[in-house]
Amino acid sequence: MGAYRELFDVSITDPTGFWGQAAKTVSWTRTPQRILDDSNPPFYRWFPDGELNTCANALDRHVASGRADQPALIYDSPVTGTKRIYTYRELLDQTARFAGALRGLGVDRGDRVVIYMPMVPEAVIAMLACARLGAVHSVVFGGFAAHELATRIDDARPSVIVSASCGIEPTRLIEYKPMLDAALEMAEHPAATCVILQRDQHRCQLIAGRDHDWQELMATAEPVDPVPVKATDPLYVLYTSGTTGKPKGIVRDNGGHAVALLWTMRHHYDIAPGEVFWAASDVGWVVDHSYIVYGPLLLGATTVLYEGKPVGTPDPGAFWRVVSEHKVKALFTAPTAIRAIRKEDPEGEHLARYDLSSLKYLFQAGERLDPDTYQWASAKLGIPVVDHWWQTETGWAIAGNPMGVEPHPIKPGSATVPMPGYDLKVLRPDATPCAANEEGSICLRLPLPPGTLPTLWGDDDRYVASYLSAFPGYYLTGDGGYVDEDGYLFVMGRTDDVINVAGHRLSTGAIEAVLAEHPAVAECAVIGVADELRGQVPRGFVVLKAGANPDGLPTSWSARCARTSARSRV
Ligand code: AMP
Repeated sequence: MGAYRELFDVSITDPTGFWGQAAKTVSWTRTPQRILDDSNPPFYRWFPDGELNTCANALDRHVASGRADQPALIYDSPVTGTKRIYTYRELLDQTARFAGALRGLGVDRGDRVVIYMPMVPEAVIAMLACARLGAVHSVVFGGFAAHELATRIDDARPSVIVSASCGIEPTRLIEYKPMLDAALEMAEHPAATCVILQRDQHRCQLIAGRDHDWQELMATAEPVDPVPVKATDPLYVLYTSGTTGKPKGIVRDNGGHAVALLWTMRHHYDIAPGEVFWAASDVGWVVDHSYIVYGPLLLGATTVLYEGKPVGTPDPGAFWRVVSEHKVKALFTAPTAIRAIRKEDPEGEHLARYDLSSLKYLFQAGERLDPDTYQWASAKLGIPVVDHWWQTETGWAIAGNPMGVEPHPIKPGSATVPMPGYDLKVLRPDATPCAANEEGSICLRLPLPPGTLPTLWGDDDRYVASYLSAFPGYYLTGDGGYVDEDGYLFVMGRTDDVINVAGHRLSTGAIEAVLAEHPAVAECAVIGVADELRGQVPRGFVVLKAGANPDGLPTSWSARCARTSARSRV
């Protein structure tokens, strides 16, 4: 473990030296003189006196340095039959213009903008436009039910919401506007203004005075320059399931995020500027933020935005078609997607139809990569199939296999080794360290590295209570596991009431809250049940009130449970 061990050790013994060096890859409008502010533990801030603009780092500087005509974003949408390539110049132009449109609607530095969109380039443009203005975006997974959207609107209190007329699934079209309207009716904090992208597949009715048409705004918008912000200013808030029904608003700052993601693109994923990286995730999840949008663009690579599924759009060869057509070097997806492909194409006949010579790595995360899926994918692809473990909170991998530093021999079932910056310890309940191969709570000694959450949106107390109080001086990941005698980490699952369904983290408490709302339900409990395809699926058990009719559950309520409980990618 030569090169890796050397980097890792420096990152732990001299974090400011390590991250100060890494920060040189970012273009600052004010270069940070201080690397870490540790004056107020357990709150730590990276690059406290630095200033930058994340959008300028992701777009302007590549246009200025000769990448204007290089593809920045490839939109490949089998569900609409559309393919479109945006060069860096085009993506910058659209983003600067949409930033102008948002500014025209009153969006200023520090204001929040909720983005509730399908997998379309305009979602990326809206995110980058917020970053350009120093506004804070909060992307909500397109198609989330109105109640879920309303909760997030109330917490983020956006001044503008950007949405679209519809999302498109392989077999149906999902109208977004009725859900948006219902959410705004439910929300205590109604946003005054909405921007709606009208898609050709379905046009929706706009409410005069409140809703603005994306195209119309863009037709007259003036491009705006990037606004320098403090490295510690928030770039985005992303909600994730906690153990209660109330989602947690994970805060990401500008400076640490840019530094950390750039480091990972080269050192973890082994990607160079100009190469093609494809994270097959959905808008609204952390993988989308880190590795569809910011990571590849900060580096000057090409990112793929895929509006489709692993199977059914049109067949289980879809991923391999995209890889071969766009010369993808690294594909990042959840094991559940590979299981879905394997189920329909066990012999890899679809896979064999494509030239996959560009593909050097398959990265897997979101849930444990089970050895069976690992074996199948490695045998069929003949390339490293690399598990890595992370969370919405951390924004990048806690443990993985650093392919750009020193590829490690793969042990199926292991996420490999801690990434630089993460002082990982497996602890017993009394906070003493576990021995090799002894299972315990996986914890990270503070401070966490740059790019990880500095707090929860508007709730420092909940941040401390949720993550920092179980083991003082440590961040509690909520996952259990062990480290073997070679230093390899095995993540075995959650130690709290969170279950993992098709790579998505769901709170059993949140699903119970929906069940308990029904007037016939006296008591309820939700547990995760093992599922071959999705890893786990939620199962609810209810005790009905005396005299209640078990057949009388209204369908709208059942549908809401289903929507709350799971929206899988497969
Ligand atoms: P999320 O914040 O939605 O990305 O979910 C994070 C959780 O997913 C982690 O705390 C783990 O429980 C699980 N997870 C993600 N990646 C892995 C992995 N490679 N191996 C095992 N569990 C994982």
